[in-house]
Amino acid sequence: CGIVGYVGVDDGPDALEVLLNGLSTLEYRGYDSAGVALANASLSVHKSEGELSELRSTLPEESLRGERTGIGHTRWSTHGPPSDANAHPHTDTEGRVAVVHNGIVENYQELRDELTDAGVSFDSETDTEVVPHLIASHLEAGDDPEQAFRRAIDRLEGSYAIAAVVAGGDEIFAARNESPLVVGVGDDGHYLASDVPAFIDHTDRVIYVDDGEFVRLSATGRRITDADGEVVEKPVETVDWDA
Ligand code: GLU
Repeated sequence: CGIVGYVGVDDGPDALEVLLNGLSTLEYRGYDSAGVALANASLSVHKSEGELSELRSTLPEESLRGERTGIGHTRWSTHGPPSDANAHPHTDTEGRVAVVHNGIVENYQELRDELTDAGVSFDSETDTEVVPHLIASHLEAGDDPEQAFRRAIDRLEGSYAIAAVVAGGDEIFAARNESPLVVGVGDDGHYLASDVPAFIDHTDRVIYVDDGEFVRLSATGRRITDADGEVVEKPVETVDWDA
């Protein structure tokens, strides 16, 4: 139900704090579980049913300090009951890719059957879990992360705001269709969220992502492309928001 992301410069704020604070501003949207994934050489994924305080209590906060790249999620279940396993982020089998998703993947059963036939086993009952497995299958086929992400998203039908991180990278990939997604442009990195309040403490410069667009964010770089892969020059707007 809520998505956040942050990819920061070396002396930027702690990704974990940015994500948890961001998620707490999205609590008003309602949720039944929450989770985060921090990306480094490997991924560190933590998620649990219940409130954000529940998630916080299970986090090895000390060992997650100093991370600069991550994504977070508050879930409002549509497919699969609230549970630790069904909470986002979802990962592929190897744990190379972590994905958060708002919305519904309408054709998930077809994709799940296809992946199952290819030998993939699933850890959750969500519609979302097909996405990290699809991305991983394209990575295995030799695609770079952006290409793998695009090809996976191209298979989806339904409504979504999706963000993904890949182990070994310091980038966030995102896309949307009929679900809100906003990029925040900060001096200390790039932010991503379902709604501006999630990062307004850090920046008031925003880019509104439109349906069908793909977003690639690093600490200092960003690229937004359309469905054909053409770069879209998006305006950076300054919002007047009483935080
Ligand atoms: N359909 C997904 C699920 O049930 C995402 C729900 C949401 O938007 O939070 O896990």
